[in-house]
Amino acid sequence: MIPYGRQSVSEEDIGAVVDVLRSDFLTQGPVVPEFERQVAAHCRANFGVAASSATAALHIAYQALGLSQGDELWTSPITFVATPNAAFYCGAVVDFVDVEGDTGNMSVEALEEKLRERRRDGGRLPSIVVPVHLGGLSCDMERVHALACEYGFKIVEDASHAIGGEFRQYRVGSCRYSDITVFSFHPVKIMTTGEGGMAVTNDAMIAARMELLRSHGITRDPISMTGPSHGGWYYQQIALGNNYRMTEMQAALGASQLKRLPVFVQERNRLALRYDALLSGLPIELSARRSGILSAFHLYQIKVQSAERRFVYDHLRRSGIGVQIHYIPVHTQPFYRERGFSMGDFPEAEAFYDRILSLPMFFGLSDADQERVASALQQAWNRG
Ligand SMILES: *Cc1c(COP(=O)(O)O)cnc(C)c1O
Repeated sequence: MIPYGRQSVSEEDIGAVVDVLRSDFLTQGPVVPEFERQVAAHCRANFGVAASSATAALHIAYQALGLSQGDELWTSPITFVATPNAAFYCGAVVDFVDVEGDTGNMSVEALEEKLRERRRDGGRLPSIVVPVHLGGLSCDMERVHALACEYGFKIVEDASHAIGGEFRQYRVGSCRYSDITVFSFHPVKIMTTGEGGMAVTNDAMIAARMELLRSHGITRDPISMTGPSHGGWYYQQIALGNNYRMTEMQAALGASQLKRLPVFVQERNRLALRYDALLSGLPIELSARRSGILSAFHLYQIKVQSAERRFVYDHLRRSGIGVQIHYIPVHTQPFYRERGFSMGDFPEAEAFYDRILSLPMFFGLSDADQERVASALQQAWNRG
């Protein structure tokens, strides 16, 4: 089976991890802070805070921006469940904004309309809005940011798919138009640490808050303490945090992978153009683009007729092609239905889901494998 995504681990990556295993620190050593500096520098942001997963990074990001009981967080229904779930960890309430039909990204028009309606009806406005850069293609962050200024919400970019991408002249993660950007380093994503994630920000206070919440809410900084220190051993717990730390082995793998990030993204873009050419004669919509935005191409998503999608999926699977669907709209999940959402709430997202199919896309996918994918797709229509 050709998978839809997989990691690329080099001998150099392996060497970097083994070096850490022979060193003094497996956790809380020098490698995690170095990896944080490197990712932040790559994005042209000031601070990086590594975490055990992107889910953990989203949680501390929302907490650091003050999300709590009585607050609302809005995101796209076309995302992995982790994006809204982390709002529930904070005791907050979730709502969704419908998507653009072609990219599946949160629609800025729908966001503006929902904000205007809420304000007019005297309803609750969101504390945080979380655009998700689906498949690695950035949302129009400048326009989301303009709405944040008008309506007073914070922005967290869920860039789990998008490290290495660009929005106009800015790298995803620059936080030019957001408060925090979160990356995932799960093995199917652009670069990996096994499990792992990172939140980047330009704000020193937010970074310090996320660091605190990543590690039990414990500080050793006398300035943050109430009362005098008892001595060199002293620490205080000043908030309720978690253990969301990344290990040194993970950070070593990440730092080594980061060196190849430009090559990973370049190759994914090459593969995407090649898919465009190979699939051009088929009755499908090719992966959506936006001028001025460099996608990191975590996913190459095509759209087929909704009536044909199940057959095409099954046919490809039978042919050894590991296609996937990204995503089942979150509001249709039982957990979310129990919280008041129903089928029909976000029609563009539901229509997107009915037609979408993610083809294999990863560094190391061979030209021959891509041709196998294309001919299996061709066969689906010849037989169907
Ligand atoms: C993968 C992913 C996450 C969660 O990442 P983990 O590192 O697995 O916790 C969150 N949001 C999106 C959009 C993702 O694709």
